[in-house]
Amino acid sequence: VQQEGGGNIVSLSQANHKALSKKALIEKRLIEALHHKDLTVMYQPQIDLSTGKIDAVEALVRWEDAVLGTVPPNELIPVAEESGMIHDIGSFMLEKACEQAALWSRNGKPMKISVNSSIREFRDNNMVKKVRQALDKYNCPAHLLKIEITEKFALEAESEQSIIRQMLQLQNDGIVFILDDFGTGYASFRYMQLLPISELKIDQSFIAGLLQQEKPQKLVHGMIQFGKSMDIRVIAEGVETKEQLDLLKKLGCDAVQGFYISYPVAASEIDIQ
Ligand code: C2E
Ligand code: CA
Ligand code: CA
Ligand code: CA
Repeated sequence: VQQEGGGNIVSLSQANHKALSKKALIEKRLIEALHHKDLTVMYQPQIDLSTGKIDAVEALVRWEDAVLGTVPPNELIPVAEESGMIHDIGSFMLEKACEQAALWSRNGKPMKISVNSSIREFRDNNMVKKVRQALDKYNCPAHLLKIEITEKFALEAESEQSIIRQMLQLQNDGIVFILDDFGTGYASFRYMQLLPISELKIDQSFIAGLLQQEKPQKLVHGMIQFGKSMDIRVIAEGVETKEQLDLLKKLGCDAVQGFYISYPVAASEIDIQ
């Protein structure tokens, strides 16, 4: 047992070392990628269930590096948040979204775009300016832009006045805030009262168990009812089957997003009806 323990310690520290150097490498390559604007954006459509049509898309960052290969957002974002490069990623995504939304709008087929944001971007106290600049640059109407914040973000933001102030200013401009990953932290009635949240996105972990188990179904039903009582639009993400879609419709969900509807795709592949 002793020896096994010792072996574990060695391999653990090797794993740590490996993780560290991977992080450092991601950081180094990311600086280059941002410099050369090598990141790309994929858009995942959302269907509004009252019309059956795509009414919004979520912008998701993609990075294919020559050395590292595909670096998924779940690896990329934490490194970027820690290093501060999330500010540049955030700006890049905002600009891309505004450019694309303005283009669709000019072509007579307006479509809302939501971007994911990190709390660190708001801690800069620069977010309002950053968003307005991106909108102005492409002449994009503010109501076409939505910003997704996670439940974790919301929990932290409820005690940070400067973040609440920025969110209220942006809402006043016409920007909609979506509460992402709803149900994964703990739903706080405090932030519901303090933050200008217009839409809820039920986390995909609840949708995954929707048909097999009774509890997720009850929870999802409760979340939809909660949204209705608060006048908040409810989106379900991670919808992978027709059965899930049908049940969500029956439960009164407002919109759905997930592989069953579409994978995230390039802007040119979005089929606007
Ligand atoms: P998220 O905001 O919850 O985004 C949804 C994730 O679920 C996306 O993963 C999407 O590709 C995936 N997804 C969509 N439909 C389905 C489905 O039906 N089944 C399953 N299993 N997955 C589905 P992705 O693109 O890998 O992004 C992962 C996370 O990284 C995002 O989670 C978000 O938190 C973060 N992220 C992505 N892009 C950005 C960005 O530009 N800025 C920031 N701050 N975070 C980002
Ligand atoms: Ca999201
Ligand atoms: Ca989510
Ligand atoms: Ca998530």
